[in-house]
Amino acid sequence: MNTVYLDNNATTRVAPEVLEAMLPFLRDFWGNPSSMHSFGGQVRKHIDNARRQVAALLGAEEDEIIFTSCGTESDNAAIASALAANPCRPHIVTTRVEHPAVFGLCQRLEKEGHQVTWLSVDTRGMLDLDEARRAVRDCTGVVSVMWANNETGVIFPVEEVGKIAKSAGCAFHVDAVQAVGKLPVTLRQSTIDFLSLSGHKLHAPKGVGALYIRKGTKFTPLIVGGHQEMGRRGGTENVASIVGLGAACELAGKHMGEEQTRGRGLRDKLERALLAAAPDTRLNGHPEMRLPNTTNISFEYVEGEAILLRLNELGICASSGSACTSGSLEPSHVLRAMGVPYTAAHGSVRFSLSRYTTGGEIDFVITHLPPIIKALREISPFGRKGR
Ligand code: PLP
Repeated sequence: MNTVYLDNNATTRVAPEVLEAMLPFLRDFWGNPSSMHSFGGQVRKHIDNARRQVAALLGAEEDEIIFTSCGTESDNAAIASALAANPCRPHIVTTRVEHPAVFGLCQRLEKEGHQVTWLSVDTRGMLDLDEARRAVRDCTGVVSVMWANNETGVIFPVEEVGKIAKSAGCAFHVDAVQAVGKLPVTLRQSTIDFLSLSGHKLHAPKGVGALYIRKGTKFTPLIVGGHQEMGRRGGTENVASIVGLGAACELAGKHMGEEQTRGRGLRDKLERALLAAAPDTRLNGHPEMRLPNTTNISFEYVEGEAILLRLNELGICASSGSACTSGSLEPSHVLRAMGVPYTAAHGSVRFSLSRYTTGGEIDFVITHLPPIIKALREISPFGRKGR
């Protein structure tokens, strides 16, 4: 059975070119980049090259990038550092729809005594900028918002939020884990002080990420140890994965323009067909302000998990929420924050495409999903039989 992988917001396949770039650093050049001898030392220039590749995709300078172990670490490091830089500014502004990497950290900080303002979203998942304006205060240390939502793909107006953060004189962090590689990013002319990204969302391996730290921004390391990453992140570098992340960023830059139209076209085709094929079906998230690869659709009166199991039998991989929350039958906090009704939130499925998704795969889903919905509604405990 072939796999039809439409769960690219959870993780992506490692691009063949990325794997090729990495292999020499697992097989031949396995020295420690901090070593004095040239066997190790020669590796350093490849880390520097990867840093250049990441910086190029972000429109940033090389020395503004540090490598981390994942997006979660980057998020934690940025927020912790922003708060440490300004102890007299303990207030945090974030949103109700953040990934657990930010949401969970802010919940913990709230328990530890930090005040947190949780910005709401409307039914399309969008922020209210006036609410953000009212939220920032003299004691706000950091505003942290995601660029694009992992569940719905909704894109936040980060530059507008950044202006609000700057007007309050506080740090601005953006969780861009889902945006980098899918949307153009130019940090040189932006209000962003910290930006997080993760390798495994853009065809690099798992276990590597990066954090952008604007030049001149005070930074306190989260991971204290050796002098690696210019003293900003201790720990011997994950050389092969860092090289892979660099290669993946270069490839993402090359493919982005094409995917804005090709990928979006496939996504729109899938979305239109599924919304038309079954009654009581709705799109979750802003119809336009969305990542080109993501669609989140609710099939009312059906359990999302039941749909996923039937799709799984056909080799189709999708998700009923963020990968980190699957396994729990609680409706997603993102859909709840958007006020999606209970019966619709439970029946939500996210499809997320990549540059490897083919038209044939989309046609396969369009053919097989509507009969699955019909069959599940026949046996639905919600009482809308056979709709
Ligand atoms: N932020 C967002 C928006 C994400 O989607 C994810 C992963 O799904 C993360 C952060 C965490 O990234 P990582 O899995 O690299 O820790």
